[in-house]
Amino acid sequence: MSAIIEIDHLSKRYGSGTAALNDVSLNIEEGEILALLGPNGAGKTTMISIICGLVRPTGGTVRVGGHDIRTDWRAARKLIGLVPQEILLEPFETVRDCVRFTRGLYGEGPDEAYVEQLLRSLALWDKRDAKTRELSGGMKRRVLIAKALSHRPKVLFLDEPTAGVDVTLRREMWQVVRELSAQGVTVILTTHYLEEAEDMADRIGVINKGELLLVKPKAELMGEFGKKHLTIDLY
Ligand code: ATP
Repeated sequence: MSAIIEIDHLSKRYGSGTAALNDVSLNIEEGEILALLGPNGAGKTTMISIICGLVRPTGGTVRVGGHDIRTDWRAARKLIGLVPQEILLEPFETVRDCVRFTRGLYGEGPDEAYVEQLLRSLALWDKRDAKTRELSGGMKRRVLIAKALSHRPKVLFLDEPTAGVDVTLRREMWQVVRELSAQGVTVILTTHYLEEAEDMADRIGVINKGELLLVKPKAELMGEFGKKHLTIDLY
């Protein structure tokens, strides 16, 4: 495996506040599912936002597919898809138009065959002509994923994809993530839920107060704790 994302001594301070991210270094390997676990305010969204180019770091570097996000951003962003925490959709557009539109934002030309394949793989094909405001919460989250994958990124970030959703929908989201991973997409997800990290991830990173406390393969972590479930005393 080789690293698709290289994070080196990354820091972020908003204004004069305390560090939201403090000297974080981490390589994310191609094809893995990495869960970033941490309580409210730990720095998870900040880290993702920096990698996705939405927030400027105070210090350190990030390379995506070898491209430095500060100097070679266009190439880096093509490799990344982001599913944000909030459900932000174009309410009066159809599902298919939403995905086409996002593809256009990435500078990609039309590719109806790919859009169809994507919608089918996310079980959205039957809803392709529905306006997004008419959809259930679960379907809306699927549309967000379709949008994030519209330009065929190699890496998908999911920022708390299951926050506030019920157990059935949570399990449905996990299944979608597993299928994406099986297709070779590298997946980084943030979560508050230990069981989600346990169930989904190849590796688990724990963030608290801007510090990356540890990153380990799940099996190793669970072995160390010697219990069926991980117990990490952050909450
Ligand atoms: P949550 O699980 O609640 O989404 P998080 O782990 O994603 O939390 P961040 O949103 O990255 O954490 O926040 C890290 C810290 O940075 C928090 O103390 C937060 O208040 C602060 N912060 C985040 N965004 C901003 C901003 N735009 N301006 C000022 N402070 C911010």
